[in-house]
Amino acid sequence: MQPIPYVQFRDFPAGLEAEVQQAVLEAVAAKQYVLGPQVRAFEQEFARFNGTSAAIGVGNGYDALVIALKAMGVGPGDEVILPVNTFIATVNAVLQAGAKPVLAEPDPYTFNLHAESASRLINPKTKVILPVHLYGQTCPMDELVTLAQAQRIKLLEDAAQAHGVTYKGQPAGSLGDAAAFSFYPTKNLGALGDAGALVTSNPELAAFAQKYRNYGEAQKYTSEQVGINSRLDELQAAVLRVKLRYLHRLNAERQRLAEVYLQELKGIGDLILPVTAPGCSHVYHIFNIRTKYRNKLQAWLSEQHIQTSIHYPVPVHLQPAYAFLGYAPGAFPVAEELAATSLSLPLFPGLTDAEQARVIACIKQFFQRN
Ligand SMILES: *Cc1c(COP(=O)(O)O)cnc(C)c1O
Repeated sequence: MQPIPYVQFRDFPAGLEAEVQQAVLEAVAAKQYVLGPQVRAFEQEFARFNGTSAAIGVGNGYDALVIALKAMGVGPGDEVILPVNTFIATVNAVLQAGAKPVLAEPDPYTFNLHAESASRLINPKTKVILPVHLYGQTCPMDELVTLAQAQRIKLLEDAAQAHGVTYKGQPAGSLGDAAAFSFYPTKNLGALGDAGALVTSNPELAAFAQKYRNYGEAQKYTSEQVGINSRLDELQAAVLRVKLRYLHRLNAERQRLAEVYLQELKGIGDLILPVTAPGCSHVYHIFNIRTKYRNKLQAWLSEQHIQTSIHYPVPVHLQPAYAFLGYAPGAFPVAEELAATSLSLPLFPGLTDAEQARVIACIKQFFQRN
């Protein structure tokens, strides 16, 4: 039996791989390797795609978050509210900016941060709310925008899992004051290595980020502010320009595969399937199911040579390295239950119908025997 990978890079749609290779060769031949024409063009195209006035290419998604926080003036003494059930990068970025991460419970069905949960944590030190469009579904942004505006605090979207998704027709990335994207290879829009971008329609935030990622330079050897080196690579920009043109097709394929899982797994055992909230949409960076038999199901699928993953097995507050934040076990019952019951199924552009059918059949078999 051929193993079914959790994720694999495949030539989907057919010919995309060759187009990417061609773009890399051309960028190599152009001999401009840092902040050249490919980066400039990608920044324009990505800003247009997201409906923002600017996009700034940086080294990775983590740096995009840190730079956005710095641009918002976040530093020591400030607090940033974020969901407890996120990838560790979101929390690290807040710590890197020198601020205190304040963790919030997610919604039990969409797994996303919501205004009611965030509002309970607001105090005079709160500078930013940092919602994460987790697994590819937008957060309930209307209520978060209203809350942030009423409290005069900034809203930074972590859109690392949400390329091309919309909320009430508006693209993720254009809903807050700024947004951070990662182009880690497995993301919905993935480079061939590390890459990221910050998008915003706020000219001051854009101007800060533009300089900060390149040693604070507005012109060569003129540092107007302290900065770092976190630049998007010219070769990665060339790759991203090609893949951006296919992003809607890649997301549509993810949505098609998700619909099949949703149809076929409905009512099986105690499974809880992903829910898309009204006004929100979902591009299924991750297809997350829940069952109290999670560990057994994962072991069974593994015996059938089906690889799965868990997002995320240990919530931030229970990670040994983050004990200093001072949260006890039991502090976030929703997130802790999610961590104990979640399983991510194979879903990526290029997964075949036969492979998906086998995943579904094996899950049904598991629940018939249990
Ligand atoms: C991937 C990811 C990041 C970090 O992106 P990198 O490019 O790996 O630094 C941040 N937040 C979330 C939610 C992510 O999924």
